[in-house]
Amino acid sequence: MSNKRDYYEVLEVAKNATADEIKKAYRKKAIQYHPDKNPGDKEAEDKFKEAAEAYEVLSDADKRARYDQFGHAGMGGAGGFSGGGMSMEDIFSHFGDIFGGAFGGSFGGFGGFGGGGRRGRRVNRGTDLRVRVKLNLQEIATGVEKKIKVKKYVACPDCKGTGAENGTAYETCSQCNGSGVVTQVRQTMLGAMQSTSACPRCGGEGRIITHKCAKCAGEGILKEDEIITLNIPAGVADGMQLSMSGAGNAARHGGVNGDLLILVQEEDHPELLRDENDLIYNALIDFPTAALGGTLEVPTIDGKAKIKIESGTQPGKVLRLRGKGLPSINGYGLGDLLVNLSVYVPENLTADERKKIEELRSSNFEPNKSIKDRIFSKLRHMFD
Ligand SMILES: [Zn+2]
Ligand SMILES: [Zn+2]
Repeated sequence: MSNKRDYYEVLEVAKNATADEIKKAYRKKAIQYHPDKNPGDKEAEDKFKEAAEAYEVLSDADKRARYDQFGHAGMGGAGGFSGGGMSMEDIFSHFGDIFGGAFGGSFGGFGGFGGGGRRGRRVNRGTDLRVRVKLNLQEIATGVEKKIKVKKYVACPDCKGTGAENGTAYETCSQCNGSGVVTQVRQTMLGAMQSTSACPRCGGEGRIITHKCAKCAGEGILKEDEIITLNIPAGVADGMQLSMSGAGNAARHGGVNGDLLILVQEEDHPELLRDENDLIYNALIDFPTAALGGTLEVPTIDGKAKIKIESGTQPGKVLRLRGKGLPSINGYGLGDLLVNLSVYVPENLTADERKKIEELRSSNFEPNKSIKDRIFSKLRHMFD
């Protein structure tokens, strides 16, 4: 499974840390490992990325809740999902603000990257693609590979996604000299004020297409059918969203692909109910079996199991078949199969049956107070 470090550990905060504590902890790490302070240091860069990934999840209430429940697997990352892995561009465009004044209010010198406010050339990002995938309990128990067909934007092969004929028919924008931003200096009462904004001529891309690619009409992307293989890890649950980083739509004029977001839908099992990693089977046994004991066949995820019914079994008794439930998405252990026993009372009796049961009426068949207490004591706690 995942060999990633725990996000709370990465930021060195407690599991119940407040949003503010998390932000402060991230800022500290980000400044410590900032590439401007550690030029050419690969380890610092990895730590910088790791902290950003942890912050991306823990600063978002939804993602944090999912992480708390499912760990890294809930984020994508396990079971073949490439998840995580933000690029430096992503980090600065998402969290540039957090540095505040720590680096003189800009990342001057940390060149070439887009994002981080209006600092440089805009990098287009493709949109995310959302799909639903229906899974039955067997598939959830083992994990499954699913091939799905999606219609999505892919990079145009003729122009290699640039939108320019042959991938070469463009020129550097003359207004911004390819930087994608224009700087204006205004004289005010407080002195010269400088402001930067996206270049209006090239829209921040830094270049202008001189001849559009005919195949994609200059967009750089085409809509096509694509078969995508999803590796669904065992233990997923209804409503969970998995992500495959970079498997979404290609970006206009080249850039970063969006993600593929996979919403898990769980099909009802005809006999078994799911309670997190446990499964529940409601069994109805007949009165002679309850009174005399016997065996009962119960459905399991991958077949059937025979269980022993003790003599004198009461309705409401729950038998636990350890390890016959679902695996945890984090890879820690298996749930149980809980067999909830009820006793069937026949509804239509023949005259002969009625006579036999009449004969059974005796004080021994009437529950007394101590028996009632014993059977109902469990139920009483349920309503505490
Ligand atoms: Zn093209
Ligand atoms: Zn320009």
